[in-house]
Amino acid sequence: MSSQIPLHINGHALLPKRTNVVHVFAEPGEEPLVAGVHFTCAICNERPVYVLRDGAVHVQKPCRYPRGIITEVTLDVSSGKLIVTADLRDVYDADIHAGASYNTALGQAQAVEAMADLGCAYGPVGNSCPSLYRNGEDGYIIASPILDDDDLPSLPDENRMADICTDDLWAYSIADFEDWQAKGGTPGQKRLGHYTVVDVPPGTYRFTHHVGERGFDKYAPTP
Ligand SMILES: [Zn+2]
Repeated sequence: MSSQIPLHINGHALLPKRTNVVHVFAEPGEEPLVAGVHFTCAICNERPVYVLRDGAVHVQKPCRYPRGIITEVTLDVSSGKLIVTADLRDVYDADIHAGASYNTALGQAQAVEAMADLGCAYGPVGNSCPSLYRNGEDGYIIASPILDDDDLPSLPDENRMADICTDDLWAYSIADFEDWQAKGGTPGQKRLGHYTVVDVPPGTYRFTHHVGERGFDKYAPTP
């Protein structure tokens, strides 16, 4: 028997479209088959178990990450020089596809942690070609600005320190420039214009990655 009924997703990210009415095939005593949803949750990577109850289909267990996943990693920058680019896997080569699917927030958070363990602040950002912006005394923002109705960017251009071209890898990768060189990184082997070295006060930097946050809106007018 097939029918169109509401789906209660129990906090998981399962719906590619903005509707919660789905097509369900149900046989008595069997787990209902739900059409048009992700096979696994785009945040926690779990495959949902469905049950039919009171005229609706429910996911049995709640999502483990009701707020999505925000990762925080730290990077030691004793040289005071940052190399800023998309891909630094020539030196920091964690297997970003190990663990949960890289298409999920959990898999991406695992990649962020694994890269940070090797000394690289890494963050999947889609093919958004973001830039690094100064933000106040000792803060920075990695984002792509949007333009308002008067074509003014949401982040001031005079604060822009580096551009990140994500054509080859949909991510930013930032490391201590001297650490990268000490581990074998060779500036001459990188394509010209594909990385920037910026001066920052030496110290430890904390990176907070918001892309996996639930409801993260990449077109929001404020960073
Ligand atoms: Zn989930």
